[in-house]
Amino acid sequence: MPKFSTLAEVQEALHSGGVSCESLVRHYLQRIEATRHLNIYVEVFEEEALAKARELDARFKKDPASVGRLFGMTVALKDVICYKDHEVTAASNILKGFRSLFSATAVERLLAEDAIILGRVNCDEFAMGSSTENSCYGPTRNAADPERVPGGSSGASAVAVQADTCLASLGSDTGGSVRQPAAFCNVVGFKPSYGRISRHGLIAYGSSLDQIGTLTQSVEDAALLLEIMAGPDEFDSTASTAPVEPYAALAPLGRPARIAYYRTALEHPSLDEGIRQMTFNFIGQLREAGHIVEAIDFEYLDYTIPAYYVLATAEASSNLSRYDGIRFGHRSPAAKDLESTYRRSRTEGFGAEVKRRIMLGAFVLSSGYYDAYYTKAQQIRRLIYDKTQAVFQEFDFILMPAAPVTAWRFGEKSDDPVAMYLADIFTVQANLAGIPAIALPLGSHPENGLPVGVQLMAGAFREASLLAFAHQHTLQVK
Ligand code: GLN
Repeated sequence: MPKFSTLAEVQEALHSGGVSCESLVRHYLQRIEATRHLNIYVEVFEEEALAKARELDARFKKDPASVGRLFGMTVALKDVICYKDHEVTAASNILKGFRSLFSATAVERLLAEDAIILGRVNCDEFAMGSSTENSCYGPTRNAADPERVPGGSSGASAVAVQADTCLASLGSDTGGSVRQPAAFCNVVGFKPSYGRISRHGLIAYGSSLDQIGTLTQSVEDAALLLEIMAGPDEFDSTASTAPVEPYAALAPLGRPARIAYYRTALEHPSLDEGIRQMTFNFIGQLREAGHIVEAIDFEYLDYTIPAYYVLATAEASSNLSRYDGIRFGHRSPAAKDLESTYRRSRTEGFGAEVKRRIMLGAFVLSSGYYDAYYTKAQQIRRLIYDKTQAVFQEFDFILMPAAPVTAWRFGEKSDDPVAMYLADIFTVQANLAGIPAIALPLGSHPENGLPVGVQLMAGAFREASLLAFAHQHTLQVK
């Protein structure tokens, strides 16, 4: 079986008769087996995927026009996205054994177009982390170097595509969780505008920041998946009613793009020198291609991380209060009364990072500190939002590195949560401002050879031009 990089290639093979859906699924199932050591999948839906493939083959044979737009699309789901009658745990002991009663709207829409869901994949517990080390299933390994993290929290969604175990995967991005692992693993990671894809059926972390995103080998597949998943939803009042554009058409801008980058970002002391060089080389290529790329000042870059971690933990402490040992998942067998049911179930069920964040969030929301932290962070968010809007009055895109460093070794940052948080410096702005952002593979680091990504952001709901531009300026990952 050849290595497919896009759904178009898969469909060509299906149409020419060289490949059937069943043989395709068997191929990916073999890849999943061959990459067990990377700890990507926490559950494989083997029988179901094969049954669906056989059903599709039969339907296609009868009438090739009867299959959906995602005929041949194999998908892995991050373990925070609900799929009816399947377990979903957010990689947490507190949800072990919990089966979802419904499917996320995004999943429903993929299924309606005949996507095949292969399984659910690992992540940081409740999507809190940047390395996929905070999981009750153990860490996932980066296929580029199994001694290193794949990034996070959608780390296994990235490795699933990187290691060719599926064509695409869904992740969630609250502060960079799709884009940073994509950069660490040499794949395309796309986070749409806040509200572009319904959050119904996505386990909530920071509800004002959360968004489902995709990990793919090509921008064209990201665009197609967006076109199918986007749009209003009666189950999520924050899902936008803005028209779903023909993203998959990837219609170019038709004029040179105006691109801004922040001096503060490319001169940032935390930015690795090799990544800085590669980013400048990319800027040079864009200029050579006729685009206008200008350095601008963005004085809030160093405020993005503190604002994000105050707001995300505040929202998390509220969202995670529902895991009380009564309604979902784990209930401590040692509990004697209501108080000890809450206390023990949560003590046993949550991992250390999740507890840290619940405490942080409860602290910043507590009456004595609310104004000093939560209100202040909201004000900073507003400034960041306004400044971001102002940039897009003049520019089409903002260009930033996706991460200040390449994939680190296991354990390197896990003892120092602040060091881990600071590694999100280039990704959280897009979530705070609610704008779409994409991480694209830029090549291998000149010294350590590890994958490096670059990030492009656009104004809210300008996915069509962002994806078209990204498509024009990236090579598919081979
Ligand atoms: N690393 C960030 C965090 O830990 C982002 C996570 C995410 O986007 N889900 O909160």
